[in-house]
Amino acid sequence: MFGKVLIANRGEIALRIQRACRELGIPTVAVHSTADTDAMHVRLADESVCIGPPSARDSYLNIPAILSAAAVTGADAIHPGYGFLSENARFAEMVEAHGMTFVGPSPAHIRMMGDKIAAKVAMASLGVPLVPGSDGAVPDLDAARAVGERIGYPVLVKAAAGGGGRGMKVARTPDEIEEAWTVARTEARTAFGDDAVYIEKYLDRPRHIELQVMADAHGNVVHFGERDCSLQRRHQKLLEEAGSPALSAAERDSLGEVVTAGLRRLGYRNAGTLEFLYQDGQFAFIEMNTRLQVEHPVTEMVCGVDLVREQLRVAAGHALGYEQADVEFRGHAIECRVTAEDPDTFMPTPGRVDVFHAPGGLGVRVDSALYAGYVVPPYYDSMVAKLIVHAPTRPEAIARMRRALGEFAVQGIKTTLPLHRRVMDAPEFQRGDYTIHWLEQFVSDA
Ligand code: ADP
Repeated sequence: MFGKVLIANRGEIALRIQRACRELGIPTVAVHSTADTDAMHVRLADESVCIGPPSARDSYLNIPAILSAAAVTGADAIHPGYGFLSENARFAEMVEAHGMTFVGPSPAHIRMMGDKIAAKVAMASLGVPLVPGSDGAVPDLDAARAVGERIGYPVLVKAAAGGGGRGMKVARTPDEIEEAWTVARTEARTAFGDDAVYIEKYLDRPRHIELQVMADAHGNVVHFGERDCSLQRRHQKLLEEAGSPALSAAERDSLGEVVTAGLRRLGYRNAGTLEFLYQDGQFAFIEMNTRLQVEHPVTEMVCGVDLVREQLRVAAGHALGYEQADVEFRGHAIECRVTAEDPDTFMPTPGRVDVFHAPGGLGVRVDSALYAGYVVPPYYDSMVAKLIVHAPTRPEAIARMRRALGEFAVQGIKTTLPLHRRVMDAPEFQRGDYTIHWLEQFVSDA
């Protein structure tokens, strides 16, 4: 196992990784910007190093500063968490070039899946079903029109380098293709420095269902089942469940077989998530994330597995030590992402937290770096807590989530807790009857 792990992240995920390391007996190094001197991940780390000013570009994305911090403290592995440098193949390469282990997949696989066009080509060759669309990048507007004619409207123009729901534009009719094409390309260039785009059929009522996988360096690949992440706003997830209320165990198993066989052929290792749209009983691959996901806890609760511990073990060269048949799915789990945002306007609400009281009791988990007196800085992602519940059945999980949301008190800043309370009360949610479009409608009807 590793002698010391540097965690190249902040907030709840830095704490999450610290916890797994501590249970494995591995000391940790926290890195932080000058805006995060008082952050919980710094307070709880064994050692910490300041890596730059508040702007993420100068701190949490500052590769030389992070590598220096690792060298100075003698860390032999770096865990990137999610976001920031977690899907930066160059960073992974540099970590390895400096004689340390990157806790994640190989740089080649990070690069392949980071290009969504290359990812779709790879998945198609492995027999994974795709959303119908262009063959690769669409070079110009005429080609875009031709794709629209071929697959039929509505279509979605998407950035090859996309992420976080950005660089995506719908064209409902041929009249809208020119604008969608221009807007998606401009957004892609601004956000990702790469204006390559491709086109997919825009599905009108899919669910977002993703599969969690874990692979070691010895050819063992297992999946830990699906998560339903259909509750989204602006293509960003707000609430996730494991399992999906729409999926049968047989559907999960057959998707799992195709995916694990494919990743075994690819020689993939460490954690990964394949994202699919699911409509009319059909799965269609959209992208693969080569890292730990925000919503990993719901999977941990139903499978009784510590995914960060597994990531560290396989990165250190250990074999998984279990097979697909050993993975059991018990009960139902739900996660609410609590953000420092106004629950009506979604404007960010950084500032001082006066009161922080987390819920507890059977089957309740809170992953958060908040504490009373903490000042939420304005520079980073607005997610401040994840509330996760686990119960034997979905109705019991909903009842538990309502109870836990009722106990959760965050005062001083506005949060999205009231929105989650309303979602729990919505009959459509309770029936499990929703698509990726439901939440936006629910919010705008309020
Ligand atoms: P990102 O990497 O920006 O998260 P994804 O490709 O994962 O982009 O898509 C994010 C979300 O956008 C999906 O969960 C879904 O809600 C929506 N989406 C993506 N592709 C399609 C499509 N072809 N049809 C309908 N919705 C889509």
